[in-house]
Amino acid sequence: LKFAIKKQIKIREIAILLPHCIQNYDCPYKITNNIDNCKECDLCKISHIKKLKDKYGIQVKIATGGTLARLFLKEHRPKLVIAVACERDLVSGIYDALPLMCYGIFNIRKNGPCINTDLMVEDIEKVIEKLSN
Ligand code: SF4
Repeated sequence: LKFAIKKQIKIREIAILLPHCIQNYDCPYKITNNIDNCKECDLCKISHIKKLKDKYGIQVKIATGGTLARLFLKEHRPKLVIAVACERDLVSGIYDALPLMCYGIFNIRKNGPCINTDLMVEDIEKVIEKLSN
């Protein structure tokens, strides 16, 4: 990854695409419009992703479905997407996004599908770090 695309990508050209189910189900804040609406209570990993966004200056989109995800990619035209989703959505999403470069990470479904899912923020940061070193 490092050698293949490092020279082509600037950190600000990376976008993180997340499914809405990462957000705590009971959270009242509307982060699908803007992740900055998260109040960083740490009940879910959205707060960690928000910090990552501020640290690296990368774009983050929390999409409620494939259509909105595709719209985001069309409007913002990142050069690389780090996409988090379940197996099925990730595979179809990566095919949809072609020829855009995607790095896929599976979410963790400790409460079953589509509710209060989790992710390894460290995995996302590792990808970003590889590209920025
Ligand atoms: S960390 Fe942010 S998005 Fe998650 S529950 Fe707290 S305020 Fe809501």
